[in-house]
Amino acid sequence: MTTVLVVNSGSSSLKYQLLDHAEQVVASGLVERIGGAGRITHRGPGGEVIVDADVPDHRAALALMLATCTSSGADLAPDVVGHRVVHGGARFSAPVVVDDAVEAAVEELAALAPLHNPPGLLGIRAARATFPGVPQVAVFDTAFHATIPPEAATYAIDAGLAADRGIRRYGFHGTSHEYVSQEAARFLGHAGRFVVLHLGNGASACAVSGGRSVATSMGLTPLKGLVMGTRGGDLDPGAVLHLLRSGMTVDEVDTLLNRRSGLAGLTGSGDLRDVLAAAGGGDAQAELALDVYAHRVRGYVGAYLAHLGGLDALVFTAGVGENSPEVRARVVGGLGHLGLAVDPARNGAGERVARLVSPDDGPVPVLVVPTNEELQIARHALTAVAPG
Ligand code: ADP
Repeated sequence: MTTVLVVNSGSSSLKYQLLDHAEQVVASGLVERIGGAGRITHRGPGGEVIVDADVPDHRAALALMLATCTSSGADLAPDVVGHRVVHGGARFSAPVVVDDAVEAAVEELAALAPLHNPPGLLGIRAARATFPGVPQVAVFDTAFHATIPPEAATYAIDAGLAADRGIRRYGFHGTSHEYVSQEAARFLGHAGRFVVLHLGNGASACAVSGGRSVATSMGLTPLKGLVMGTRGGDLDPGAVLHLLRSGMTVDEVDTLLNRRSGLAGLTGSGDLRDVLAAAGGGDAQAELALDVYAHRVRGYVGAYLAHLGGLDALVFTAGVGENSPEVRARVVGGLGHLGLAVDPARNGAGERVARLVSPDDGPVPVLVVPTNEELQIARHALTAVAPG
């Protein structure tokens, strides 16, 4: 019997899931406000438990997780731990068992992902100390996109500089795009040419051909591409230079691009539900934000259809993609000429399973597929320690 612990570590939070050999979730939870007076919300066989406790660091977060598991009657003895790591750079094109060299490489990659890799590293270090002898596997958000061909990964800047600094398209949300495209292939009975739209707080599009990523909308960093909750996606790099020359500091521009852009920048709220409600109430700025959002998505669908040479399914996933019939209708509504349409009744139905939302006579299936990054990380963690 093999038990996998999946750890998704943020700078001040740590999400975890324990899965058994049958891929069932035995326990899961979230430790919040790491660095001070924290809290764990744990769900296990005994129901939900919430405990407030001092959580000075990620190691203390894992200790709290273990203690809460034990006190609520669950045995937390993982055979392998899988970690979500955002940036694997050019070095990691597949999940890898963590040793000191891998840990050092993930630390070096923090230069490319200063917001995202350090928390992953904290989780890895804490888990190595907490579960000595248990293999730890790093699963990278970038890895699924390692198959993107050079013409889609290369930025047209000074080639020597780009090579020296590792500046190229890496792409993110790979674990989700991989899982969702596999589920879509299972649903349809074939792995064809898919466009997967991961629309959550972060958002990205991915062109998948025969199970491999061939293009994706995020780039060197997760700032590129679609309109997101607080990130604006595509932007003329000249705008960044202009802001810097006009007196903003690098940190101010960083905050603007990561926290004060996207839906939040356009409307004041990064939550699509608020934007939909405001637009429904006649707010013209909210309506514009939804138009910008859907226009951007449609542009990527069209571009990827061109790259793929056709389309066998359009797939929606993540918080917005799974839960918002209105956003799906707004995106697909402008793409009838590409053979895409939603059936209103199917689109409005809400079960959390892979399902068809296009009409039976629609030339191109439109699917909603719930993502499950934890399960995909668990599968990769098991494969990495037991290859073949
Ligand atoms: P993350 O990128 O942080 O993993 P999620 O995939 O969980 O985020 O997506 C969260 C977002 O999904 C929320 O910010 C919210 O905007 C959006 N969302 C959730 N439910 C709905 C809904 N019913 N309608 C529209 N948007 C929704």
